[in-house]
Amino acid sequence: MNAGIITVSYIAASALFIMALGGLAHQESARRGNFYGMLGMGLALLVTIIGLVTQNHFVLIVGIVAGGAIGWYLAKKVEMTQMPELVAILHSLVGLAAVFVGWANALEHGAAMSSVEQAIHATETYLGILIGAMTFSGSVCAYLKLSAKISGKPLQLPGRHIFNLFLLLAAIGFCFEYVAAAPEGGIVWLVLMTLIALVFGVHMVVAIGGADMPVVVSMLNSYSGWAAAAMGFMLGNDLLIVVGALVGSSGAILSYIMCKAMNRKFLNVILGGFGNKSSGGAGAAGPAGSEADIKPIQADEVADMLAHAKEVMILPGYGMAVAQAQHTVYEISKKLKDKGVNVRFGIHPVAGRMPGHMNVLLAEAKVPYDIVYEMDEINADFPNVDVSIVIGANDIVNPAAQEVPDSPIAGMPVLEPWNGKTTIVLKRGMSTGYAGVDNPLFYKDNTRMLFGDAKDSVDAVLKHLSE
Ligand code: NDP
Repeated sequence: MNAGIITVSYIAASALFIMALGGLAHQESARRGNFYGMLGMGLALLVTIIGLVTQNHFVLIVGIVAGGAIGWYLAKKVEMTQMPELVAILHSLVGLAAVFVGWANALEHGAAMSSVEQAIHATETYLGILIGAMTFSGSVCAYLKLSAKISGKPLQLPGRHIFNLFLLLAAIGFCFEYVAAAPEGGIVWLVLMTLIALVFGVHMVVAIGGADMPVVVSMLNSYSGWAAAAMGFMLGNDLLIVVGALVGSSGAILSYIMCKAMNRKFLNVILGGFGNKSSGGAGAAGPAGSEADIKPIQADEVADMLAHAKEVMILPGYGMAVAQAQHTVYEISKKLKDKGVNVRFGIHPVAGRMPGHMNVLLAEAKVPYDIVYEMDEINADFPNVDVSIVIGANDIVNPAAQEVPDSPIAGMPVLEPWNGKTTIVLKRGMSTGYAGVDNPLFYKDNTRMLFGDAKDSVDAVLKHLSE
């Protein structure tokens, strides 16, 4: 294929990817954004396969068909609640691809180069494998944590900062050795660095506490982008560099937004400093109140309270996703609206298990965007709210973040329903949320607990509202 056509197609694909990111920034345009992304990827694949690949078409087609079929099957099968772990494991594949491309590059010397070109090429290869291996092992670990196959508690080895520093210095030192020895030798340094990067990826993620996992997910997203960009440099493919940089920088911006939403410093999260308190902090240990303070309520009473309220705030969390209660919740909000009640939804930035999790669920249930508010927009309104309904949320409405200075979630901004007249919490029992911290909200005077699966509870409330 003519080189000009390839370049123009790559520019068009890059533009489509940028338009995709722009579309994904708002719920109204997210569908369009996804469409642009698919179009861009289709164009990129087509031009690369027809225009750039000159040999082994059979292997390529078999790979694409097999990968496409597995991806299709997973996307169809995966539950919404398993989406975060699917995203994490998919990031690991990008990392693994970068490691394979890097190793293939290191072992296949290709055309002769000048010494400067050779040094640049060896550095690209080294960095590509380094970022790829970190992304791979870190993402596998994040997958295991998010799917609760290993504990979400931070594992913080004594002297871990010194250990990390040692790994970093070794990786830098081995880079000089490899670049000096490549292309004929230096493989031993590459092997050692790959092992170091794999260990670092695991160590970095296991040291991070439950409540900080959103930052890890977005950070690994960013790393997978840089790994793709590194592959682009190794293969001399401009589109891969552009796409990798787009993913890398948007992931980095998302990590920044997540850190800001949780009032964390990025470096503290990455170095595992913040999770320290969870093992011994007062907030983590023991219940935040006595059993006598828990005031259960029945569905008919909830329906009655809601029907007589003027202002209702619905605060969804991870449990709503598990129970798949979003459709009934929207039905309840419509019934209340018909009765003249002002109903709004309040969304915490880290509610659920992935960025935007609640927005996706509410959009799926066709909740209008104009009644869905971000935490910062509605927190000051709680004193005027008659009834707040917390549906399967816990950490995002935990007053310990403000009241218990040594709590593992201290300082994290939370939704403040306790400032309203009555809070009704829908959950199955008294278990903690993802951060493993007990919640004083459940014991407050103006809180009532509606125990049971969130879907069963909202079904019962809707039934009473309809009578
Ligand atoms: P939490 O995990 O804090 O709490 C969810 C609550 O839902 C649990 O306490 C559980 O209580 C309840 N629940 C579970 N299943 C059901 C059900 N079927 N019916 C009713 N209740 C149910 O969720 P939040 O959304 O409040 O907070 C999110 C947490 O996840 C934060 O700590 C955040 O940092 C973390 N996180 C967020 C990510 C993101 O990107 N958004 C990524 C990774 C982690 P019970 O068992 O008693 O019913």
